[in-house]
Amino acid sequence: MNSPLNITHVFAPGHETVLRIEDRATGLIGFIAVHSTALGPAAGGLRMRPYDSQDAAIEDVLRLSRGMTYKNAAAGLPLGGGKAVIMGDPAKLKTPELLRAFARAINTLEGRYWTAEDMGMTPDDMAILAEETRYVAGLADGKFASGDPSPITARGIFQSIQTTAHHRFGTADLAGRVVAVQGLGHVGAHLCKMLHHAGAKLIVTDIDDARIADAVDAFEAVAADPLGILSVEADILAPCAIGAVLNPATIADLKVAAVCGGANNQLASDKDGEALHKRGILYAPDYVANAGGIINVATEILEIEDRASFVDQKLAALDDTLNRIFQRATQRNCSPNDVATEIVDEVVTSKAA
Ligand code: NAD
Repeated sequence: MNSPLNITHVFAPGHETVLRIEDRATGLIGFIAVHSTALGPAAGGLRMRPYDSQDAAIEDVLRLSRGMTYKNAAAGLPLGGGKAVIMGDPAKLKTPELLRAFARAINTLEGRYWTAEDMGMTPDDMAILAEETRYVAGLADGKFASGDPSPITARGIFQSIQTTAHHRFGTADLAGRVVAVQGLGHVGAHLCKMLHHAGAKLIVTDIDDARIADAVDAFEAVAADPLGILSVEADILAPCAIGAVLNPATIADLKVAAVCGGANNQLASDKDGEALHKRGILYAPDYVANAGGIINVATEILEIEDRASFVDQKLAALDDTLNRIFQRATQRNCSPNDVATEIVDEVVTSKAA
């Protein structure tokens, strides 16, 4: 017999529903935020990390769920924005019982929120959630299982880099272009392979020396110090590690003509988008450039039979969106980040009306 979950509503203007979930038996304290279902069921991953406070966890889930509305809409997906967080160190607190309790909380939303893997979660954890809920994607097995999203994420970033180059340098040809890549994990490594294949010259870094050594070997890349990558001279910077790397301190030091990468939430704040624009640095909004991952996950949620065609079509549409963002930003002489927000707001509002 499962212990009863304690589920309460959190007041969050601007969000459709925010739930606080507590299960004394497993030590679970978590939140699910449904920002918008205007375009379809809210979709966004489940993150587990040791937050300093419940307020910090709520702030994160609200910010991330709103971000998912933007990302899903920019990708032209019939999905809304949602996200979930569980408080605590996954290594210490994550148990199958805790995950199952969380899955039961997801069920209370009756399909208005679909979860998937995010920080602190693995495909095995998704399989445990799936024992209790059908509203889970990112599974390793099953007819519609979408598997590791990173190769498709990297494809989306690569095409976005080409489009960014086209708008910034007048050609999408990357042969001879210098691209600085921060982070050589799942996304960064795939991206480096494609860039190398296209003839780009790579400057790479990671906090893991072995990953740098591998990239230097495989892609004739030049190694940079993790602290120095944001001030190397290059044509394009591709942040593929952590968030908030574009902030007043780093923007002042950048020696690139454009930024286009896969990391989520690259701008510390929207003002940093304007600061990049003022410096003449063309910024490809991260949630547009990295939406390949959610396109991949969407094939599972939407039970798409012909996955390859769906991915091709959505990546092409994503590229159109990025072109439209850059064109409007050029016409208005403003930050592409502001235009991206505006375009997505138009899509969501027109569907919600
Ligand atoms: P990952 O954990 O596989 O790789 C991240 C890499 O960055 C690791 O090699 C890590 O050592 C390195 N790193 C961490 N901090 C660093 C620092 N300060 N300087 C340099 N390197 C650092 O993660 P990933 O799946 O490759 O994702 C990378 C980024 O892209 C994340 O921001 C993630 O949220 C975002 N993203 C990923 C996907 C996807 O499909 N995996 C989709 C959308 C967005």
